[in-house]
Amino acid sequence: MLEPKIISQLRKIVGKESVLTSKEDLTTYSYDATATWAHMPDAVVLPTTSEQVSQVLKLANDNRVPVTPRGGGTNLSGGSIPIKGGIVLCTTKMNKIIDINKTNLNAIVEPGVVLQDLNMALAKEGLFYPPDPQSFLACTIGGTVAENAGGPCCVKYGVTKQYVLGLEVVLASGYIMNIGGVVVKNRTGYELVTLFAGSEGTLGVITKIMLRLLPMPPAQKSMLAIFDDMVVAGKAVSNILSSGVMPSKIEFVDNWVIKRIEELMPMGLPVDADALLLLQADGSTEAVETETQQIVDICQRSGARETRLARDQAEADKLWAVRSAAMAAIFSAAHTVLIEDVTVPRDKIAQFIQQCREISEKYDVCIPLVGHAGDGNIHPSILTDQRDAEHFERAKRAMNEIFITAISLGGAISGEHGIGLEKQHFLDKAMDAMAIEIMKQIKKILDPNNILNPGKIWVE
Ligand SMILES: Cc1cc2nc3c(=O)[nH]c(=O)nc-3n(C[C@H](O)[C@H](O)[C@H](O)COP(=O)(O)OP(=O)(O)OC[C@H]3O[C@@H](n4cnc5c(N)ncnc54)[C@H](O)[C@@H]3O)c2cc1C
Repeated sequence: MLEPKIISQLRKIVGKESVLTSKEDLTTYSYDATATWAHMPDAVVLPTTSEQVSQVLKLANDNRVPVTPRGGGTNLSGGSIPIKGGIVLCTTKMNKIIDINKTNLNAIVEPGVVLQDLNMALAKEGLFYPPDPQSFLACTIGGTVAENAGGPCCVKYGVTKQYVLGLEVVLASGYIMNIGGVVVKNRTGYELVTLFAGSEGTLGVITKIMLRLLPMPPAQKSMLAIFDDMVVAGKAVSNILSSGVMPSKIEFVDNWVIKRIEELMPMGLPVDADALLLLQADGSTEAVETETQQIVDICQRSGARETRLARDQAEADKLWAVRSAAMAAIFSAAHTVLIEDVTVPRDKIAQFIQQCREISEKYDVCIPLVGHAGDGNIHPSILTDQRDAEHFERAKRAMNEIFITAISLGGAISGEHGIGLEKQHFLDKAMDAMAIEIMKQIKKILDPNNILNPGKIWVE
């Protein structure tokens, strides 16, 4: 419980209407997109300026009140859950696109800008911001920077941190710090911008973001490859990537997901296929023509039963709707879904898919597979029910074995969703003990009273 005097000071800082304390409001901010975590905050504040964020943090720091930063609340690792109570600092009212500079190919935005709003503003200028988490209708730029989010386009263009040129960050003390800037090359000191990109709200509150942009590719073509064996589809991904051609998207969908989508919203997908690859080439018109043909040839040589090319934008949109529908198909299929995002080296994708199949059989749990196959970043999604202790236990053991499998193949336990609460019990198996210690020391320097998103990344 927060003392009434702190609530009243918060109201003075951000205005009465921007401090929420009713049970209904607090419940709304007590969970995110993960299935198994929830915790009530004591208050939610919605600041509109960096100065307000600074004052809120100073107040919280002086009184040792936990503060959990939050954007759209779409993360899949428990990152925005106020597990120690206190204040949820939600940035959704800080949603201005401050500048888009076509010559410098950059944009300056506030953290609460929704990714789709930025994409639409950029499209009008013929500009392109590649990182494209599939929650783009709801996630905020601040949240995607704090998670270093990925998405289908990242196979060719790289993840969020590769597009962050500079940041304004409010530290736990309330100090407003500027790092990096708008220039594309900047070798001044340590790469602190990269440290904050992916820091999951534990080191500071990001209040302004300078982003690198690209010109919109003039042409793109989408295609579908249908496979009778998902392991063969996995091999096709490695074959494409080793051929020298670089598609702008390579997404994987397995038979369970195909059938579930057809059940919920029929799209004419082949329900007898073991797996689909959804692919896209982009660039100049000539390059796209050549690369599309190369990708189709490789898929066929690798064992695709059939390949289909989207003839126009409407057909391409329909193909990519399959990928968007996949998450809804999975999330709606069970009371509890443990959605993981391990990454394996790209030449190990087929082996990893095969091992996931074996883990599913061993623990007798359904594990649909979908994901950014081009990045070796598959999302094994374990369907379970937290209310059924025996089933949930089996699901958790299957999840642990998936983590162990990914690590043994040279991979990582999280490709894009972050550690948060969901994977912290596994951190010491996935990271050098000295590296964990260095992270803790960095946290201590920046947040000595441990008020920023406490209880996340490592077990306290
Ligand atoms: C349907 C669906 C599809 C998804 N697809 C993808 C995908 O393809 N790729 C991918 O990477 N992720 C994906 N995600 C996960 C999620 O959308 C991303 O993690 C996203 O980056 C979260 O953004 P958000 O604004 O919702 O942040 P939140 O969930 O609100 O917060 C995420 C983390 O960032 C911190 N944070 C938020 N704002 C700030 C700030 N201003 N300063 C400091 N810290 C902050 C929070 O404390 C928390 O730790 C998906 C989620 C869903 C539900």
